[in-house]
Formats: sequence, C-alpha cells, structure tokens
Amino acid sequence: MNISEKIKTFREEIGPEVTLVAISKTKPNSAIMEAYEAGQRIFGENKIQEMVEKHEALPKDIQWHMVGHVQRNKVKYMAPFVSLIHAVDSLKLLKEIDKEAKKNNRTIPCLLQIKIAEEDSKFGISETQAKEILSSTEYAELMNVKVTGLMGMATFTEDMEIVKKEFLKLKGIFDDYSNSFSELKILSMGMSSDYKTALECGSNMVRIGSSIFGERNN
Ligand SMILES: *Cc1c(COP(=O)(O)O)cnc(C)c1O
Repeated sequence: MNISEKIKTFREEIGPEVTLVAISKTKPNSAIMEAYEAGQRIFGENKIQEMVEKHEALPKDIQWHMVGHVQRNKVKYMAPFVSLIHAVDSLKLLKEIDKEAKKNNRTIPCLLQIKIAEEDSKFGISETQAKEILSSTEYAELMNVKVTGLMGMATFTEDMEIVKKEFLKLKGIFDDYSNSFSELKILSMGMSSDYKTALECGSNMVRIGSSIFGERNN
C-alpha cells in the first residue's frame, strides 16, 4: 500500500470520533504531501526546528502538532503556528508557552504528558503533579495557554496486557479529571505498535508514524 492508501485505511479503521495525527518526523515533504493529498491535515513532529522548516515549506492549512519533549528556549519558534503541544510536563513550560502565545495574540492548546510506563526513560509527570498544575492559581492566571487533554506512552513491549493496563490507568485518570476540569477533551494515546489497544482503552487521538510512512532509519 502507498501512503495515501494507508491514510484512507487508517481513517476507516479508527472511525470519525478519533483524530489521526500522522507522525512525519524524519520524513520528506514529498511523503507529507502524499498524505495531504489523501485528505490528511494533522501532522506531528518531535523536533521544533524540523517542524518549523516543514511548516514554512508546506500548505498553510496543515495543523502541526509537537509530540516530542519541548525545551523552553525553543517554544518561541513554534508559537506562531503550532496547533497542539502533546508533551507538556511542567508549570514552568506552560508559563513559557503562555508568554510566547501572548506575543502572537493566540491561545495554544496543550496536553499534559502523564507517565504511565514502568520504564524510567519515559518523560511525563505523575497523576498528582498533573492535578496540582490544573488546580493551581498560577495555571488559572495563564490566559494564552489551555490544557485540553492528556497524553501518555505505554511501555514498549509486545505484551499487550502490560500496555492495556497502562492505557486503562490513563483513561481512568482522564475520566476522573474530566469531571473537575471541563476543558479536558483529548486523550492522546496509541502509536503504530499499540494503537488498537489504545482505542479499546478509550483513546480519541492516535499518533501514527511508521505504519503510514514506513520505518525510520534514525
Ligand atoms: C515517533 C512518535 C510516534 C509515532 O511512532 P510510530 O511507532 O512510528 O507510530 C508517536 N508518538 C510520539 C511521541 C513519537 O515520538
């Protein structure tokens, strides 16, 4: 299957209620345009510099999502256009995003990344830290940033029971918080290897890279 057939197949499989973020990191603009021509408008990158270059070169109706870890000093480069930042892990970072969003007269939607995997290597904050941020007066005072959901990455394993347990944990936190914080609508979980499990566990946004664009070399 070529890229445009893969996009269409994914669309049908996940249904209209789930948002497909096509993760185009390391892939050339020609590959992105193939997906674009199949109707895909949401693309995700994990490096700010690469996303900025692609944004400049490609059609302006593409919505760019930053899915990687964000360094505070680089927020300014994506603030004019980024449409969702998935991996926010501190109030300090939210404040920086707010500051840069304000300079651009916009409000930037963000997700808090919750650490659900056992492995130490994964970024993210605890359930308690997330609640502290959302309940803080400091967050309430930020007018140009809005936390619209949660994101999580499961342990990288073929054991889907472990993955399922981690995704269900995040879904539980999401349901709990959605009751208190009405702006939380997005639950970003699932990648090429585990999106089926993520959907079973209630994900409404999947981030798919290699299953659309092919394996990455780096
Ligand atoms: C690269 C990446 C993905 C996509 O991974 P695939 O396995 O290629 O589907 C999803 N989420 C994040 C945060 C990523 O960095």
